[in-house]
Amino acid sequence: MQATITVLPGDGIGPEITAIAVSVLKDIATRYGHAFSFQEALFGGCAIDATGDSFPPETVKLCESGNAVLLGAVGGPKWSDPSAKVRPEQGLLALRAHFGLFANLRPVKAFDVLADHAPVRPELLKGVDILFIRELTGGVYFGERQEQGGGNSAWDTMIYSVQEVERVADVAFKAAQKRRKHLTSVDKANVLASSRLWRRTVDQVAKHYPDVTLEHALVDSFAMQMIKTPGRYDVVVAENMFGDILTDESAVLAGSLGMLPSASLGSGTFGVYEPIHGSAPDIAGKGIANPTGTILSAALLLRHSLGLEAEAAAIESAVKQVLEAGGRTSDIAEAGKPTLGSAEFGARIRAALEAIVVH
Ligand code: NAD
Repeated sequence: MQATITVLPGDGIGPEITAIAVSVLKDIATRYGHAFSFQEALFGGCAIDATGDSFPPETVKLCESGNAVLLGAVGGPKWSDPSAKVRPEQGLLALRAHFGLFANLRPVKAFDVLADHAPVRPELLKGVDILFIRELTGGVYFGERQEQGGGNSAWDTMIYSVQEVERVADVAFKAAQKRRKHLTSVDKANVLASSRLWRRTVDQVAKHYPDVTLEHALVDSFAMQMIKTPGRYDVVVAENMFGDILTDESAVLAGSLGMLPSASLGSGTFGVYEPIHGSAPDIAGKGIANPTGTILSAALLLRHSLGLEAEAAAIESAVKQVLEAGGRTSDIAEAGKPTLGSAEFGARIRAALEAIVVH
């Protein structure tokens, strides 16, 4: 298959980890006989420095011309002044809005070999495999906001339409059908009007998926239950801000923010794939960042944008093998045991991939 992948390395550790994920994708192309071409563009803080814009028109054009985007991370202290007119995060919101990427898929798997590393008791993590689906282009992050009264008060708006909830609920029910057929919809319907609309709409959509068991959960108690009994959840759907917070919380189940991938999808096959962590300025340039989240994001790109399931599964299996053989970057290291730098860890994954038989 032929495909063009636009790479947006971004800031901080972004360039280090995307370079490793691109090497993995090149290996996949060679081994499975695909022709992937890669085009790199400026995005985030580095784009502000070069052009004054976090998502410059040339980057928009390159993204439009490709099949999918692989993104590192954006931001850092240099661009963190909240009163600045242009900020790296604006690029992220603009990218999602431009391509109508309304569903953010974040699979959270607890690898058994990392169970002792996670802050949660190991026995609670057995078999944890949750697919979070976060609504990505609506809610309070996109609603109107204002600071007023000379900075004495401020307001934000959380707004959802039925159609916005329907389309993300559809994605969630379909995903649940392919998994363990259980969907948890998270809201705050006891307080928020937008949540009551959310719940009503999800109930309506559920009528089209009688094979999926639906439960509603309030976001505050869900935040606790997810840590107490993570094994009971299959697919979880939430509005934008609740999903943002819950998916970062869920990183403790996987042992490190560096482990988790994400896919942002719209109604077609185009998608943006990125690890869930940020640009980690505290470790940027040290060559120690964990590239797993980005490599697993590349696997999601193959699965969701290119329809290459066997190739995606091969990458996931290579990551598992390396972890099971004791390969660890410093964020998931066991006390007193040697750790690998990002490049060495990436090389181990590529070697494991090489050993996987192509069918
Ligand atoms: P962060 O995710 O960058 O880092 C939090 C902690 O996790 C740090 O100690 C970091 O070293 C560690 N960490 C993160 N990724 C890691 C990896 N792959 N390997 C090992 N350790 C890793 O969050 P932050 O410090 O709150 O934010 C830093 C910058 O990133 C900010 O400017 C923020 O706005 C931005 N940010 C960007 C995105 C994005 O691009 N999607 C997401 C979140 C934060």
